[in-house]
Amino acid sequence: MPLHPAPLADWPFRKGPFFLVAGPCAAESREQVMATAHALKGLPVSLFRAGIWKPRTRPNSFEGMGVAALAWLQEMKQHCGLPYCVEVANSEHVEAALKYGADALWIGARTTVNPFTVQEIADALAGIDIPVLIKNPVNPDVDLWTGAMERFLQSGKTRVMAIHRGFSTYHQTIYRNRPMWEIPLELKRRMPGLPLLCDPSHISGKRSLLQEVSQKALDLNFDGLMIETHPNPEEARSDREQQLTPVALHKLLDNLLLRKSGTEDPLLLSSLEELRKEVDRLDDAILQTIAERMELSEEIGKFKQENGLAIYQPERYNEILTRMMGQALAQNLSADLIARIWELIHKESIRHQRLVMRGKNQ
Ligand code: PEP
Ligand code: MN
Repeated sequence: MPLHPAPLADWPFRKGPFFLVAGPCAAESREQVMATAHALKGLPVSLFRAGIWKPRTRPNSFEGMGVAALAWLQEMKQHCGLPYCVEVANSEHVEAALKYGADALWIGARTTVNPFTVQEIADALAGIDIPVLIKNPVNPDVDLWTGAMERFLQSGKTRVMAIHRGFSTYHQTIYRNRPMWEIPLELKRRMPGLPLLCDPSHISGKRSLLQEVSQKALDLNFDGLMIETHPNPEEARSDREQQLTPVALHKLLDNLLLRKSGTEDPLLLSSLEELRKEVDRLDDAILQTIAERMELSEEIGKFKQENGLAIYQPERYNEILTRMMGQALAQNLSADLIARIWELIHKESIRHQRLVMRGKNQ
């Protein structure tokens, strides 16, 4: 039975042009929670966020204020009217968060990797009507992320949302966690109605990249953003370099260009239709060319078979790759992309040649 997440239109909390979750990495004190929430007044914040139990990579770091902080969040909600969400990583967290009136829960990247824990949380929430936001696992595994969604959907939740927070790598990159945008887009392809947020804070790891990453997410039609906000980031007890003051968040939001996800305007629609027809024409031509190329490969296969030659000729493959990558650069295309495409073409070509050698026609 296919499982369907509820569309964003069925979600509560929505305020502005997109779904915005803002608040500190961690709730550090009652004053810090209140100060952040007050400073966020006037911004279209859908949900306030704050970590209570912080999953830290190394021991002896600040691990969150625990249940005490839930009381501050509850008070913040009463005073400022802002619904809030916290991260939960086991069934005890779930119980405590529900007791203090959390409006939504999020599953952290280190939890999504573990199906036992995800299932434990889904079971603890069975029959309870609370929305769940699920971060991607730390490793780039779209199945694991899809599986976490399915565990909640199967337990009867329909309001599930995905949060893209990037993927960790051994090698240092400009990002704290590489975005690998193709992964959240693949998740969205598999579950078309699934609301999808981007967490530019954990992708960027530093303030200077936040604007650019947030814009990219909106350009890719993400439904919203989760951004860490702290009244005094320099003094934050976790994720100091990536948190924004509420004023800086305001500025970031003002600078964002909003894109429409579609249009009803008949004139715009017909111009888009024309361009899409051209794209379809080119796609057809690409497919036809690939088919012709494979026919040629089969002919070469026959030739090699008749003359006792091996299929794989490394020098020839290198020659093709070098030639295509050189042309890619001249055409302003990514050499890496072209190399990956030709690796696939070459693999398929070898498959066709082997079929011919084994005397089968495909
Ligand atoms: C967080 O949101 O503060 C957090 C710990 O995130 P992640 O699970 O993405 O590392
Ligand atoms: Mn954080």
